[in-house]
Amino acid sequence: MTQPVYRQLLEVMKSRGGPYAGADVPEFFALVEALFSPREAEINNALLRKPASAEDIAVKVGRSVEEVRAVLEGMADSGLCGVAASSGTLLYQGLPFMPGLFEFQFMDGKETGRQMRIARLIQAYKQAHDAAGGVQSITFPVTRVIPVDRAIKVGNVIHTYDQVMTYIQKYDSIAVGTCYCRHAAKLRGEDIHGMPLQVCLWFGSIADNLIDRLGGRRITKEEAREILDRSEEAGLIHMSRNTTDDIDFMCNCDRWHCEVVTHVLKQPKPGLVFNSGYQPAFDPERCVACQTCIERCPPQALTMGAGRLPAVHLDRCFGCGACATGCPESAVAMEARTGLPAPPRTVRELAAAMQRGAA
Ligand code: SF4
Ligand code: SF4
Ligand code: SF4
Repeated sequence: MTQPVYRQLLEVMKSRGGPYAGADVPEFFALVEALFSPREAEINNALLRKPASAEDIAVKVGRSVEEVRAVLEGMADSGLCGVAASSGTLLYQGLPFMPGLFEFQFMDGKETGRQMRIARLIQAYKQAHDAAGGVQSITFPVTRVIPVDRAIKVGNVIHTYDQVMTYIQKYDSIAVGTCYCRHAAKLRGEDIHGMPLQVCLWFGSIADNLIDRLGGRRITKEEAREILDRSEEAGLIHMSRNTTDDIDFMCNCDRWHCEVVTHVLKQPKPGLVFNSGYQPAFDPERCVACQTCIERCPPQALTMGAGRLPAVHLDRCFGCGACATGCPESAVAMEARTGLPAPPRTVRELAAAMQRGAA
């Protein structure tokens, strides 16, 4: 029988939001019982999204500070909670499944028996989640696409937040980790279509934490740029939190296994809830109708239109720029797309927008 602490954990994970937030299915309990010991579950349930000290959490759960600190440190070393130093004090934070807890289980790219088991349990939970409640609809996007900036048409107003290099320049600490979605798929024996794995970028204090505790690797700005170039060449989508200022990670996502992209693709109009604010424009003088762009387009938003020029279906288009970077004739340029809301500035504004969207 499921222990009460795991039933309480279900409510906690529901409240933390994100894709696959929490569903009352046996597969949820199989997963969380493999991830958290009962004591860890109890401490997790006391953690908020707002960071708190071990002392504050000890008061909440009615246990000694020493005991709570030891459990929190073990959880932080296993990717079960967030941790950051503030004025010399370590503060701990509750994580949603995604982005957060799922990725942190696989950051080091190892292929242990435990990781294989967790990868299968996550997959079983996701399938049961969708079967039980239908696909969670996106009322306000928690993530957004960052366009391939070198493909943006000259003459557009380009916001700094649209430029991937903005984030690389802004942070001194940058870490790269293993892409959880593709690594988990590989552990389940699935084809990852030759897509690169070492492409998850993290910035600032979270990068330090991943390097110190979870097997992330410190990289230079130059290496980060190379990773982005390699990702663009492979046709991956740059993705981050749907804010302009509070960006501390940049994912490079595929259409087959990315948990975010595959969830978005189940929405009736994926291009309206996940986009960069840009769309492709095709130059009829240059296009030779080779259809490379159509094959590369992750959401299959392109078809061959009249006059043998690709036509874009904006209900599906992410504005990622994979069509532009793959075009052998340089016949595609990204131009600003109208009628879409600008991203919120901070995590707080994003949370408010999501709450309004869900109301
Ligand atoms: S596919 Fe995307 S969301 Fe998933 S871990 Fe990889 S880079 Fe991140
Ligand atoms: S890849 Fe370029 S040349 Fe080929 S169909 Fe697309 S736009 Fe035309
Ligand atoms: S058409 Fe496809 S590849 Fe091009 S920007 Fe839109 S989603 Fe990306």
